[in-house]
Amino acid sequence: MTDTESKMNTYRRRPGSEAALLACAAFAILASGCASTGGQQSAAPPGVLESTLPPIPPVTGPLDLYVEYPDSLQRIAVSDTNFIHGTVRTGDATLIIDGAFVEVQPNGAFIGWLPVPRATAGDTAYYQLIARRGDDVDTLSHPILLPSVPFEGEPGTPWIDSASVNVPAERWALPDEELTVSFRGAPGMQAWLQARSGRMPVVESPVAGRYVARIQAAEFHGAACTADACDWLGETVVLSAAFVLSDGTDETRREFEYPLRLLDPKRLPVVELVELPDSISGTNGIVVGRPLPFGPFRWRFPVGTRAEVDGKDGERVRLRLAPDLNAWVGVDDTQPAAPNAVPPRSLVGDLRFSVRADRIELRIPLSAALPLQVDEPDGRTVELTLFGAIGHTDRVALGSGSRAVEDVRWVQLPGNRYKLTVTLAEPVWGFRTAYRPLDGDRAELVFEIRRMPPIDPLNPLAGRRIVIDPGHPGAGATGPTGYYEGHANLGIGFALERMLADAGADPILIRRDTLPMGLYERTTAAIEAGGELYISIHNNALPDGVRPFGQEGTSTYYYHPHSRHLATTVQEGMLDTMRLRDLGVYWGNLAVCRMAWMPSILTEGAFMMMPDHEAALKDPEFQARYARGVMEGIRDFLAAALHTSGEMSVAGAAR
Ligand SMILES: [Zn+2]
Repeated sequence: MTDTESKMNTYRRRPGSEAALLACAAFAILASGCASTGGQQSAAPPGVLESTLPPIPPVTGPLDLYVEYPDSLQRIAVSDTNFIHGTVRTGDATLIIDGAFVEVQPNGAFIGWLPVPRATAGDTAYYQLIARRGDDVDTLSHPILLPSVPFEGEPGTPWIDSASVNVPAERWALPDEELTVSFRGAPGMQAWLQARSGRMPVVESPVAGRYVARIQAAEFHGAACTADACDWLGETVVLSAAFVLSDGTDETRREFEYPLRLLDPKRLPVVELVELPDSISGTNGIVVGRPLPFGPFRWRFPVGTRAEVDGKDGERVRLRLAPDLNAWVGVDDTQPAAPNAVPPRSLVGDLRFSVRADRIELRIPLSAALPLQVDEPDGRTVELTLFGAIGHTDRVALGSGSRAVEDVRWVQLPGNRYKLTVTLAEPVWGFRTAYRPLDGDRAELVFEIRRMPPIDPLNPLAGRRIVIDPGHPGAGATGPTGYYEGHANLGIGFALERMLADAGADPILIRRDTLPMGLYERTTAAIEAGGELYISIHNNALPDGVRPFGQEGTSTYYYHPHSRHLATTVQEGMLDTMRLRDLGVYWGNLAVCRMAWMPSILTEGAFMMMPDHEAALKDPEFQARYARGVMEGIRDFLAAALHTSGEMSVAGAAR
């Protein structure tokens, strides 16, 4: 047992100290091989505050083994060590899983961190649980599915794993583009790609048994097309080829078809971005773009944006923003523009800002709805980049009746990129972009920067419209005794709503019942309600294969720079009231945080899967502590924003 592991349930206020907190005793008990007596507390060493997590309320009753996670026949993601949690429904029992003692909490809950059982047949494995309470014994054989094992052929013979041959449903490519096709097979052998008019090289990658061919698209097209299809440029041709693997004596073949369309670089197809119901990426009039077909989100294009397409891979299309700059979007997020549509290009003329009480608005008429990008290099600056644009800006009207806009600059960048930098005399509160169609292909870009709301220095919460989003359902984590995260989040949401209203704020709780609500439904509701801040309340769980003891604590997520400070102050508020481990603030690509019209954060206050956290989250007093921490963080954020804006206006006046 290490020193760290002995300091269970305690909290040390020393930010940044990773040894600050403690592991659950369950692992220590497993490691030392002795049974638990159910004891919870150990004396805290000097300098370490006792945790104020409420004690787990004891439960006694009949023995009844139940595994909450992994679910029966659930396929888990790891095959070495994993957690298993559930309950024996009585606190006075002992529990052995696969021969190891696992601590039973006073309410019967348990969580173990154990070697994953070996498969008995195929990919099915069983945890063997034995619980004892006096003369009562309950046993459970709990089946799970192990990660699927890739196909292996007869050793020493050439074999190809058919499931590993990666061929897109349809590929569009530029003629000089390199295509990659690969397969997994017997390591250390000769491989080639057999096409109609000859062989193409395939090499074994540094990963043994993984064979890769990199072939220029036009070359592949020419070698593998059927004779009459070889001239079908600009149309999709189903190419036929085969991988061959040989040990010099024997060989094996795997035929495949590859639907390929060679694009004419001088006449790229043009698409318009659309928002479909239930789109994977549609959100509040925005279509998201990714640097890789299945990579993280990076761009937020307004619906109506037009762009040239220079590639396609299955259900993803590749938009060309600038030379050597591409964004992938879902096929469902696009519709073809008219067959003769010209590439979207526009001049950018004079600019006129309209300064309103709650926003600064810029309307830019364009010859086409160009792809765009918005960045926030610092707390009071917003950069708008238009792709396919040439600056023809001679004059900029900063807006009458206000000094809210401090400075505006534009610069022409290589690759027809026009970058506009707007610096405010106050903090940036949010932004949004939308296209309004004009006649023909023309469109008006409506670019709005959200202004700081009026903040009362005596009571920063007074009158502020604060959106509370109790996370889930759908999905969500469940604790060992079956308590559902969505219910905990709702309880905390109600508590926060009450407290904010009592403090003079104007809270908007966007889920009041236990029915499912979509993520974009939530952010849309927040915008429609005139929300000024958005707080999504959650409680955490870990993915398979992560040792849970020592990882449990409090974290907060943000996405846009204008939300970062709110994440920090709310994280600090929650640490003050809940006193759990500080897991820190994260930048995270989360749907609700991507909503840019107001500072938006997501809190992960405690861990559903940990028995003591789960028990605390059921407790209304602890829910209120979570809520109070969030509220204090919001108050600190508003007070600091007011303070910062004061400093900015003083600095502005001195110039
Ligand atoms: Zn959640």
